[in-house]
Amino acid sequence: MEDGLHAGFDMARVERRLPQNVEGDLFVDDSCIDCDACRQIAPLTFRDHGGQSSVYRQPETTDARHRALMALVACPTASIGSRSRDGVRTAVRAFPTKLYDNVYFCGFTAESSFGAWSYLIVRPASAGGNILVDSPRFSRPLATQIEELGGVQLMYLSHKDDIADHATYAAHFNCPRVMHEADGAAALGIEQITTGRDELRIDGDLVSIPTPGHTRGHQVLLYQDRALFTGDHLAWSPYRQTLTAFRDVCWFSWTEQVESMEKLLEYRFEWVLPGHGRLHHAPRKEMHEHLERCVDWMHRR
Ligand code: SF4
Repeated sequence: MEDGLHAGFDMARVERRLPQNVEGDLFVDDSCIDCDACRQIAPLTFRDHGGQSSVYRQPETTDARHRALMALVACPTASIGSRSRDGVRTAVRAFPTKLYDNVYFCGFTAESSFGAWSYLIVRPASAGGNILVDSPRFSRPLATQIEELGGVQLMYLSHKDDIADHATYAAHFNCPRVMHEADGAAALGIEQITTGRDELRIDGDLVSIPTPGHTRGHQVLLYQDRALFTGDHLAWSPYRQTLTAFRDVCWFSWTEQVESMEKLLEYRFEWVLPGHGRLHHAPRKEMHEHLERCVDWMHRR
């Protein structure tokens, strides 16, 4: 193990290297669970060869290698390896990585969340402090880097599938967690339990919106009418080039998930930041049109 990089996991093993990789320093081994993180972070290096990822082109520039090593760090199963390990320390330090202004992607995804993405909103104490949205895998380097950004004052959990090492982070940062009662929040020892189906204004910038469907207690977080943290409710489809939902992993009720999606038409946002699936940025009007298209599509599923 290097740099505390994959606490609880081994590094990718060269003897388990997939034959679909091109020759070179970077490779994916057969432990890949096909979570898509590497393909989203470093599409110039990783591809889906059918059920798993592999390296289809070794990075040819410093930036491409850095992105590929960020994917190595983010991988939930330590399935990506680098024979040389050159640049891995720098990639570890890249997380949380800025998406826009004060909103960051945490990297360090967890296998227990099937590689779900988590995010950090960095705000001054006067605005309520930092929010961790869903939980990454616990890693000392990441915790230290979050501390340097001001720590975590509140952890928001969208639903029970993407909570990863929430208890460890909550203890480390001494922060309360927010989660819906219908996803078993009480049994998890959650400090602030949301209830019902009405929106909850957490503070001047944050609104929690119940979106039952994927799970009974799923909820999404709207930040400044700009970013919607969507858990497993809503994501961008790179194949259909519009917003989508996942019927094949709808664990509670598709009918309710459609109703929850319709409810989101009342809100405006320009970023969709999901746990699974691709994130997307577009002007509010365009995003709203994609959401309308998504609702229509869901009715036909
Ligand atoms: S990030 Fe890791 S587990 Fe996910 S698709 Fe890539 S290699 Fe596979």
